[in-house]
Amino acid sequence: MTTEDRTQRILQRLAEAAEETPDLSGFYELHQKLFRLQGEARADIAAALELADEEALKARTAQGLPMLSFAQLPIAAGRFATLATAVAAVLSEYDPDLGKQALPDDAAAWLSLAERRFEEGRVNPERAERTAELTLAEMAVDLALKPYLEWAADQVLPHLNLERWKRGYCPVCGGPPDFAVLEEETGARYLICSRCAAEWPFRRLGCPFCNTNDYSKLFYYLSDDEVYRLYVCQECRHYLKSMDLRKATHRVVLEAERVTTVAMDVAAQREGYRS
Ligand SMILES: [Zn+2]
Ligand SMILES: [Zn+2]
Repeated sequence: MTTEDRTQRILQRLAEAAEETPDLSGFYELHQKLFRLQGEARADIAAALELADEEALKARTAQGLPMLSFAQLPIAAGRFATLATAVAAVLSEYDPDLGKQALPDDAAAWLSLAERRFEEGRVNPERAERTAELTLAEMAVDLALKPYLEWAADQVLPHLNLERWKRGYCPVCGGPPDFAVLEEETGARYLICSRCAAEWPFRRLGCPFCNTNDYSKLFYYLSDDEVYRLYVCQECRHYLKSMDLRKATHRVVLEAERVTTVAMDVAAQREGYRS
């Protein structure tokens, strides 16, 4: 599928969702604008990814090291700054309070913030989880990195032996998952990276965030139609939105599902869980 087709499918699905829930039309409009900007940036990427050799990839997989470094991303500073600035403008339009915050002065400053966010966004059990709210510039950079990370994930994934990964964080970029699917045939669980959208298999039971297997701490809530599951972990207080593809009756566009399941985020966060 071309980038354009992919973006169109997402936008179409979000437009349908906006019609179904007019109360959220502003929220969906925001995400449509973001997907459009990200799609345009992705279409502009013209590069090839230099991968490590097969043996090095295997060794990284065995050690639980994600494959991608910031330097491998095909980011042109000027194009990236244009994208991040446009994303910040869209976010400020949605939340005028954000618009009062200062943004990086030039492309080099945007780029160094991007590198910092790329590193900070890797799961790292030795670092305390950040609780401070993200700034406008950080939010913009995280969203602007997505097309580059997704592009890189598409290049890297075919070279990985995902069955051997078995970790709760992303094999490509090291980010945490923000969605999971139970696969159509066997119901095996796949996690989806919140940053690069890579999918990788992970055991059905067990928390990907703290790795606990203590079943007395793990629950899930099932939607009435049994399509959606909200997994929560009482050990680490993380939640994970999930979709059972065996039960889905509508055409599934996963990128859009992560947005259209916002009610699950609201419910989970109200109960004190975090993504
Ligand atoms: Zn990732
Ligand atoms: Zn946990």
